[in-house]
Amino acid sequence: MKLHEYQSKQIFAQYGVPIPKGRVAATAGEARQIAEELGGRVVIKSQVLVGGRGKAGGIRLAKNPEEAEELATQILGMEIKGLPVRKVLVDEAANIKQEIYLGITNDRAARKPVLMASAAGGVDIEEVARETPEKIIRVHIDPLLGLRDYQARYIAAGIDLPREHWRDFGKIAHGLWQAYTRSDATLAEINPLVITKDERLLALDGKMLIDDNALFRHPDLAEMRDVDEEAPAETEARKYGISYIQLDGNIGCMVNGAGLAMATMDIIKLFGGEPANFLDIGGGAGAEKVAAALRIILSDPNVKAVLFNIFGGITRCDEVAKGILTALEEVKPQVPMVVRLVGTNAEEGRQLLSEADMLTAETLTEAAQKAVAAAKGGQA
Ligand code: GDP
Ligand code: MN
Repeated sequence: MKLHEYQSKQIFAQYGVPIPKGRVAATAGEARQIAEELGGRVVIKSQVLVGGRGKAGGIRLAKNPEEAEELATQILGMEIKGLPVRKVLVDEAANIKQEIYLGITNDRAARKPVLMASAAGGVDIEEVARETPEKIIRVHIDPLLGLRDYQARYIAAGIDLPREHWRDFGKIAHGLWQAYTRSDATLAEINPLVITKDERLLALDGKMLIDDNALFRHPDLAEMRDVDEEAPAETEARKYGISYIQLDGNIGCMVNGAGLAMATMDIIKLFGGEPANFLDIGGGAGAEKVAAALRIILSDPNVKAVLFNIFGGITRCDEVAKGILTALEEVKPQVPMVVRLVGTNAEEGRQLLSEADMLTAETLTEAAQKAVAAAKGGQA
């Protein structure tokens, strides 16, 4: 789950990371009000869950409350990378001397979190990593020991941070680590962390990704989810407890079990197709859940064929078949569908589906080949 800038910065602040004074506004009037309270210059920052807002014109400096209102009106009417701006953050403007990058993420290869920093902050860090990787200093954090002081100093030295800022930098790095680990985040990032002209360190931007699988133990974080900013299909899937990730291909997949779903995607690719999604209906799914899953798959206009790969264990194939029939009545799909049912009550399931206009397959290989052919518009 992605958090907005204002949410991430509030969490950082709870762990002692200094952030600018400011508040979020949903209307231009509120933005003006906040600017009046803050006095002086403010920045108006679009709150959308994508990066590069600055370049897109979603971050503007206002000299006074009137200008704040005017710019908030403009920004609240914008779309950034397809996402409508519904809120703006109004922050006290900072006078920037230097922009630094500071972030923590999981390094899967090292099986540890990694703290990264760069003196080339403010810009797209992926670009820095590609073009000038030597400008990024990294240190791995032992999850049991946590971030050690010497590691924070190593990073400070590595980015040539002036000595006078090392102490505060250490506190910020520790605060970021605490925020990261206690929130079960997969990313906690400050870009830019700035040195102001009056020689203070300040987190101007914030970004956090929270591990969805840990949200059950963070009800306060779970509440921060901004449903307006998600793909509607993913919101719907979560409601039914379905794991769904939309992809770029055109073969919709409905599978029970994450491993089987991965294998299904692999075999589709092996035969020259492209999966439109990852979807795991989970174990023991009933008809209602199956129907929801099919609706979700078909809500993607790129889908040209659907492949059902169900291995009945706890999940009963006849229940799945009933779900498919219910969904077919409701959504009346226009695309060809291939079904492979094996395991518990497979025979009953096939019986139920024999009336429906579906292609059947005995093996996964056959199912994948038929689905790939069907998506290409050929005969299976
Ligand atoms: P992003 O483009 O979505 O990453 O948004 P950021 O919050 O990182 O802002 C982009 C850039 O706008 C920063 O790197 C700064 O250069 C600039 N910026 C943001 N806040 C301020 C501010 O308070 N004062 C000044 N002068 N520039 C700012
Ligand atoms: Mn940024």
